[in-house]
Amino acid sequence: MSAEKETHIGGHGLHMPTSGRGMVISAWLTGVYFIVELGIGLWTGSIAVLSDAFHTFSAVGGILVALGAARLSRRPADADFSFGWYRSEILGALVNGGFLAGMALVVIYMAAMRLNAPIDLPTGPMLLAAAGGLVTEFISLGLIWKQSQSDMNVRGALWHIIQTFVGSLLIIVTALVIRFTGFLMIDPLLGMAFGFVLLWASWGILRDAARLLMEATPSEIDLESVIADLETLDGVRDVHHVHAWTLTSGRNVFSAHLRVGDGADPQAVQRRAHRVLREDHDFFFVTLQTETECLDERGAEMIDITSDRQAGNG
Ligand SMILES: [Zn+2]
Ligand SMILES: [Zn+2]
Repeated sequence: MSAEKETHIGGHGLHMPTSGRGMVISAWLTGVYFIVELGIGLWTGSIAVLSDAFHTFSAVGGILVALGAARLSRRPADADFSFGWYRSEILGALVNGGFLAGMALVVIYMAAMRLNAPIDLPTGPMLLAAAGGLVTEFISLGLIWKQSQSDMNVRGALWHIIQTFVGSLLIIVTALVIRFTGFLMIDPLLGMAFGFVLLWASWGILRDAARLLMEATPSEIDLESVIADLETLDGVRDVHHVHAWTLTSGRNVFSAHLRVGDGADPQAVQRRAHRVLREDHDFFFVTLQTETECLDERGAEMIDITSDRQAGNG
């Protein structure tokens, strides 16, 4: 088993950002900028600045989750946590997404209050906040751009930074409109609009985390075509009790029962099936049961997506 394990890890390009020096630097930069921006937001009272500050906070959160998950996931599995610590990433994403949703609702509420009673805003500090944001975001983008091309977790952090970039542009628009037209409503209006962007972003994070927790089929896996591939293998009579799920992003797991013909060599069937699953469908870990008679037929029909097809076979 241990030799097999080594090829599992070496074979895939989807490892966690373990050597993420660029990630660490951009997390620090963004963290410092968050505090500055929050200060400016509270001092000026600008909803646009505050909502962008909250988004900056979730960008830091996204980077910290990716880094923390990378560190925790290196903990080896033991008898207590036999799947290891990979799924700590999902817990981090849930906290981050939940926090972002909460902040989005606060921003939208504050903007609604402010629409009734707009206040005059000092545009100089707002432009300063936006300029600081643009500088931070450009540096962060430069630092993690290359890594993001090959790493799903880093790509998530990159999306956060791009959204924050849009937030900085909104602040600039708000400040310029107030400075040149005196239209104070622009701040709660754009602040609220960005609040809905935050809500949408948190929905994406929470939905992805919920899919992982529900052990949903990974979006890149077409389970029907995997079943079809296994069914065409020599010696396979049918494929049932099929499951594919994600341990953590980039590590998909597969399990199934293969019913083999009476004359077939179960070990040879297993080897062929394993190769298809690992090489054609990129599964990180595979558990296969070869059998001539299914011992799990009764009671488990609810979690067998092929049970209607097997009805005559049992
Ligand atoms: Zn093994
Ligand atoms: Zn079975």
